[in-house]
This record gives sequence, structure tokens and C-alpha cells, in this order.
Amino acid sequence: MAQLSDDCFAHGGRLMPLAEALSAIAERSVVLCDSELQPLADCLGRILAEPVVCAFDVPPHANSAVDGYAVFHADLSADRETRLPVTGRVAAGTSLGRAAKPGEAIRIFTGAPLPEGPDTVMMQEDCRLEGDTVVIAPGIKKGANSRRAGEDIKAGSQVLVPGQRLRAQDLGQAAAAGNTALKVYRPLRIALFSTGNELRQPGTALEPGSIYDSNRFTLLGLLKGLGCMVTDLGILPDRHAVIRDALEVAAKSHDVIVTSGGVSVGEEDHVKQAVEDLGKLHLWRLAIKPGRPIALGQVGVVPFVGLPGNPVAVMVTFLNVVRPLLLGLMGARDVTARRFKVRADFTHKKKVDRREWVRATLSPLPDGGWAASKFPRQGAGILSSMVESDGLVELGEDVTELAPGTMVDFLPFSEVMP
Ligand code: AMP
Ligand code: MG
Repeated sequence: MAQLSDDCFAHGGRLMPLAEALSAIAERSVVLCDSELQPLADCLGRILAEPVVCAFDVPPHANSAVDGYAVFHADLSADRETRLPVTGRVAAGTSLGRAAKPGEAIRIFTGAPLPEGPDTVMMQEDCRLEGDTVVIAPGIKKGANSRRAGEDIKAGSQVLVPGQRLRAQDLGQAAAAGNTALKVYRPLRIALFSTGNELRQPGTALEPGSIYDSNRFTLLGLLKGLGCMVTDLGILPDRHAVIRDALEVAAKSHDVIVTSGGVSVGEEDHVKQAVEDLGKLHLWRLAIKPGRPIALGQVGVVPFVGLPGNPVAVMVTFLNVVRPLLLGLMGARDVTARRFKVRADFTHKKKVDRREWVRATLSPLPDGGWAASKFPRQGAGILSSMVESDGLVELGEDVTELAPGTMVDFLPFSEVMP
């Protein structure tokens, strides 16, 4: 199995712009997973490891796009009705069994192979039947309502590219090309922990000073949404030795370790020391809000990602930094989420040289497009701001003050969370 190079997340320590972090991640990403052959029906959401090539034309034969009559265009009058005898019938899954001759009309149904000869299909709604004769209105174009062999896929062409995360239509395409199974990457095995003495498992009592652990469930959803296999390893106390031992065990059977909390620089932040004991750790101080400290390192050779503790910071750093990192390690080709332009209907002040994400809801504008309204409480601990919003307005490093009416980049949650 592949692994990252030693101390691959080393970096200078100053405040790092997001773009720099992403290009560093892209450079360091190697596919960690082996590939395996999976039955096609089990491939949804998996990442394709090998190209899919179609050996034959799709459709394999010219066929009719409608129910009607197959005719020779040359038989049709340009300005008057044409009367042709109906001399044969071909339904989907059958064939006429002979070539058709000029002067004939063949009754045909959608998907049925076009007999040799006719080049045009008259829709039955545009014809009149008088006994065994079909009466055809003038004006149809040559080739109308017929589908060429290979018009969807040409024999020998690549229909799916390695690195594609397989969607419903990709499974259909693989089936159209005759595949029963695909080579896909094995899912990334993730060990997931929360850290903090104040955290309690939902279902247990909350004593004074404690809160329920929400990050682990958010991260479980985010990781599963990416197609990872997640082991939920619960809550670690703020005790260096306990954290170190748990990480050491987790590294034995996982591809990546993900934690939240305990990575700022307070005296209760024990994750940093524990990872350093077992390998390498680098605090990337990102020039972003919310988020900022994210710890990247290795426990032995296993990549380690330490996310901030604040629930909004967890999601924002995951979506912007961890998602591209994990997708790269999983073998995905396209790791960049698309942003869409919307109109900001709010004011916002921010520091220069820092990328910022504002939680916002969208509402349709009367003339088309969307207006974004800012969720009123933007604190990094306000998880409700994520629950109540449709996505993130992304404000670049150069912005200091946003005036209402400005067009801004919007990252819809639907783009990054299936
Ligand atoms: P820390 O980074 O450990 O100092 O945590 C920062 C803030 O996030 C604190 O208010 C923590 O209580 C909170 N926090 C940390 N981990 C979690 C968690 N798993 N669920 C909910 N809140 C958390
Ligand atoms: Mg903590």
C-alpha cells in the first residue's frame, strides 16, 4: 500500500493562505488505497480506479426515437401529402428480417432497429392511417426521429475516467458499456476521536461544566458522505498518555486518524504533544475564519488530521481543507468544490489577508438568481448557524467590507455534502 513521504506536512509556521495550503496538500496527496473489483450495483459513491472503455457502439444499431412509420425520405412529396403502403412491422427487441424497399412504409416502435433502407421515421401523431395505407403530411426533415448507431458512445471510446466518484448515471453508463463489475479504490479507513474532558456521550447525564460531544457526529456524517469507512473511537480525556496510547493503537488498523479539539496552544491542548511523541505534527495556522489552527502530521506513517474544537470551525476546515486532502488520498480526480455567484443582501466587515466564510440562507430574486442573507450569530461555536443555513458565502483575502448588493461566491452545502 502507498504511504505519504516522511514528515510530509512540514511547513514554515507563518499564517498560511488557503490557496497555499491546498496546493501543498495536492502536491503531497498520493492514493493510499488499493483497488478492488466490486459488483456494479455496489459501486455507487466509490472512486473508479481504472478507465472504463466501451468496446462497441451504443446504441449498437440505428433505431427509431418514436412510435410511427419508417420511410425513405426520397419517397416523400415536399409540398403535398404522400400515401405509402404499410408493408411490415418492427417492435423493440425484434427486427424486420429483411431490407425495406423504396415505396414501402414500415410500422415501427421506439427503440426498434431501423430496417436497412429507410432513413426517416414519421411520428404516428403526424400521420393518418387509411386501411393499409399511411398518409404522410409534407415537411419532415431527412433523418428525423431516427437514432444513429453509436450516437451515444462510439466503439472504443473511454466512457468513465479514473478518479470519478461514481454517481447514478455513471453506473448506468458502465452498464450500457456491458460491465458487471468495476475496479474501484478501497474506502479509506478513518479512526475518529473527540478530545476534551468536558465532553459527554449523548444519552449520559450532563454534569455542571460538561456538554454533549457533537463534533464526532458531524464528522461521522462528513466522512461517511465522502465514502470513508469510519471507526468511531469515542471521546478521549485531556490526558497526554491516554491520547498517545489511543492514537498508537488506532494507527495500526486505519489509513487516517481524525480528531477534533485540543490542538490550539492552550495548556489543556494535549493532542499536539501526543502526536509528536509518535511521529510528526505541524500546526498549520491558516489565514481563515472560522478555523485557523489545524494540525497535520503523522502517527508513524499514518496521516493525522487534528481539527479545531469549535463545531463551526470543525465543519469549515473539514469542507475546505480536509475534504480535498482525503479525496486526494482516496484517488479522486476532482477535489475542488464549485462556488456559485449569488447576491449578498448583508453588510460584513472583516480583516484583510484572511479568507472568511459567512453562513447564509438563499432566497430567490424576482428577476432570477439568488440573494444570500447572513445568519445573525456567526460565532465559531454556534452550530445552529450551519443547521439554519444553505451554505457559505466565501469572502476572499482582499475583502475588508462587503456592501449589500455585491455579487459573492457561495458554496452550497449540497455541493460538498451528499
Ligand atoms: P478546544 O479546541 O479543545 O480548546 O475546544 C474549543 C471549543 O470547542 C471548546 O468550547 C470546546 O468545548 C468545544 N468542543 C471541543 N470538542 C467538541 C466536541 N466534540 N463537541 C462539541 N464541542 C466541542
Ligand atoms: Mg479541548
